[in-house]
Amino acid sequence: MNAPLVHSRHHNLIMDVHAPATEWRRDIHAHPEVGFEERRTAALITERLRAFGVDEIIEGLGETGVVGIIKGRAPGPMIGLRCDIDALPMQERTGLPYASVHDGKMHACGHDGHTAMLLATARILAETRDFAGSVALIFQPAEEGGGGGREMVVGGLFDKAPCETVWGLHNMPDQPLGTFTSLTGGAMAGIDYFDIAIEGQGTHAGVPHAGVDTVLAASHLVVAAQSIVGRNLSPFQAATIGISMFKGSDAYVVMGDRAVMGGSVRYFDMAARDKAEARLRALATSIAEGFGARAVIDYRKNYPPCINPAAEADIAAEVAASVVGPENVEREAEPCMAGEDFAFMLNERPGNYIWMGTGSPDHVSGKLHYPDYNFNDAAIPQGVAYWLALVDRLLPAS
Ligand SMILES: [Zn+2]
Ligand SMILES: [Zn+2]
Repeated sequence: MNAPLVHSRHHNLIMDVHAPATEWRRDIHAHPEVGFEERRTAALITERLRAFGVDEIIEGLGETGVVGIIKGRAPGPMIGLRCDIDALPMQERTGLPYASVHDGKMHACGHDGHTAMLLATARILAETRDFAGSVALIFQPAEEGGGGGREMVVGGLFDKAPCETVWGLHNMPDQPLGTFTSLTGGAMAGIDYFDIAIEGQGTHAGVPHAGVDTVLAASHLVVAAQSIVGRNLSPFQAATIGISMFKGSDAYVVMGDRAVMGGSVRYFDMAARDKAEARLRALATSIAEGFGARAVIDYRKNYPPCINPAAEADIAAEVAASVVGPENVEREAEPCMAGEDFAFMLNERPGNYIWMGTGSPDHVSGKLHYPDYNFNDAAIPQGVAYWLALVDRLLPAS
């Protein structure tokens, strides 16, 4: 396998684990499980951790989450390394020999690769134990919308594994292999979901004046909602409001008594979120009233934004630089408006969420969440080297 050179004092061990980790990755890829259904995946993780001889395994945390704890040769603090393990509810179209055997489920975000890299890291840490303190390997379920990160925290993650800091990593196939991107501040957006129903007296489509056209009223709300980002939030507050679902009646000739829509609000700033929610409620209520209808609003706070504190972002960047060279670590890229429930862990402990480039000309990666996506196994040594260098940096043995 054509893996690029990584700088690590564990270089030989990393190269030894590359082939087995590739096998684990492809096995997980062939058997994708969506949020909170990752039973086979969790069993595979537990079985591997047991075989490596880790000191403690916590199972069933956040339903299907697993934590393995490895103690170093000397006492010291505990740090957490976190990966996500869930797949997406979508149909794979890669044609790979190890493509998904489950129709409508697919590892299209590389969580199979994240899991294999953290397992490979666990194997080397359990073998060498050349650090002072302990490492908690956090295998988190249900990142893709289910909030597995929240469930692990609520389930007592940091009581059972009292980490001082917690660290995350995500592959980026549109960035070149051999690079990292370490941002300070907002890295991934907070996301809320909403459903709004506009309700009023339905009528025959040929007799519109006998009722309320709920679709027309709802359409005004779709347009007006775009004024929130443009006119209520500061031009310097990044946010999006998207209405991606919309439905009226089921018939050509019926003006239904209900039009429904749903979408998301994405933001980095809590004040922007509160303003967006308040304005969306006010617009829905007043527009519905203006048309003689009424609005029923279900606004749900989902993932908070993933904010990287400065001190830990600097550490992550330095550690990444030790693996791939400082010229290959980007510090200034745009943040991403997608969400990431590692934010629930970052809200509890200092830490960092870093992006690892995995794109290479000889690998057809596709894009994240596309049916042709496939994690690049050549990136495994780079991810493992990053985790090991982070342990060296935070828990030096001498
Ligand atoms: Zn994803
Ligand atoms: Zn992902």
